Amino acid sequence: MPAFVQMALLAAVLATFAAAAAASTNEMEALEPSTNGDLVTATCQRIGGKLGSVDYEECMKIGLELSEGYAVSGTPILLKEYPPLPTRAPRGRVLLIGGIHGDEYSSVTIVFRWMEILDRYHSGLFHWRISPLMNPDGLLRKKSQRMNENGVDLNRNFPCPNWFDETRDYWVRRTSSNPRRFPGDAPLSEPESRWLHDEIERFQPEVIVSVHAPHGVLDFDGPPEAPKRFGSLHLNLLGTYPGSLGRYAGVHKDIPVVTIELPRAGTMPTYKEQRQIWLDLVRWLKTRLPAEPATHAAR
Ligand SMILES: [Zn+2]
Repeated sequence: MPAFVQMALLAAVLATFAAAAAASTNEMEALEPSTNGDLVTATCQRIGGKLGSVDYEECMKIGLELSEGYAVSGTPILLKEYPPLPTRAPRGRVLLIGGIHGDEYSSVTIVFRWMEILDRYHSGLFHWRISPLMNPDGLLRKKSQRMNENGVDLNRNFPCPNWFDETRDYWVRRTSSNPRRFPGDAPLSEPESRWLHDEIERFQPEVIVSVHAPHGVLDFDGPPEAPKRFGSLHLNLLGTYPGSLGRYAGVHKDIPVVTIELPRAGTMPTYKEQRQIWLDLVRWLKTRLPAEPATHAAR
């Protein structure tokens, strides 16, 4: 095991221990922030070392924090919150996720770009929680892969009704047991999908946005109306897969799920296109929210 993984694991164990002990002594309270900060720093170093388009300084500048989630290896799932501002009530809560598939590099980078926009212009219009890299093990391993460290396609691991009947059957019959589409042995068998599931429960998002590549379309699951177009990406309803986030959150839980499929996994859209997708997303969110009187999620 490489030294940095060992260190990240050790730091994760320490952080978990510190949290579990409920910081019962002043000593523990003093320990926790520096440990957490070290873990964010170590993860940003690895992201900067992997992605040509997000360097270490850019990653650190965003001010990502630890979520409550860790990948299989102990690498943290980082999160940034853009909370309600005192000046206005947000129109709704939006959860934005990049990199659920570890080899879709552009889906991580573009979320960093959009966070840079929010860092400058967050106006309190929406209450955002953003995780640019939900599958850190998939991206940050030597050869990036779609699945997590256990070889599970996290986007097939969500607890849809009939998961045991449908998901395995679909995987065997429709994908010829393609290892890249392996749904796992049970719903929420993986820490990353458990984290997202729990985060949805905690945050109660009114819209979920998940970024992928390379199909070059806009997909949508859940209660209408679907967006027609973001930038040059046009709506093309691909249908849901058993165990996918779209099937689970969009169809089963009635939370609109927008899937942004960028056209290439290894090449970013132009700067203009990155901004246009963002502007069209925000414009569409304004038509959708408030879905009901906005309330603030407790955390
Ligand atoms: Zn994907």
